[in-house]
Amino acid sequence: MDNDCLFCRIVAGEIPATVVHETDTTLAFRDIDPKAPVHVLVIPKDHHPDVVALARDDPAGSAALLASAAAVAEAEGLLTDGFRLLFNTGGYAGQEVFHVHAHVVGGAPLGPMLAPR
Ligand code: AMP
Repeated sequence: MDNDCLFCRIVAGEIPATVVHETDTTLAFRDIDPKAPVHVLVIPKDHHPDVVALARDDPAGSAALLASAAAVAEAEGLLTDGFRLLFNTGGYAGQEVFHVHAHVVGGAPLGPMLAPR
């Protein structure tokens, strides 16, 4: 655990979150500032700063994170109409929290993948 990491502190129970799914190695909770009717963050309980580090350092954890994201999408009723799964990574993507997290967003048409340039 990284004591300075917001999401590690959520895993530790030090900061409250609305948890919707949990496994031995992953946790999923509602985004505090949702950008769609459904907006859930799925994280590994272990600290990895971004998806590149997770993929490199923990392939089994990477697979577990994807499986949890799929389970969340199904539980939230997103499989019929579709949803978006994304990892903001680094500065150009606007990553704000440096504990890898998959955004599961859906529940309404999401519009273009990126803002028009
Ligand atoms: P990113 O820009 O990909 O790093 O996304 C970070 C996300 O974390 C944003 O969508 C925030 O709204 C969300 N967030 C920040 N603090 C919390 C919190 N305490 N509980 C739930 N979500 C949070």
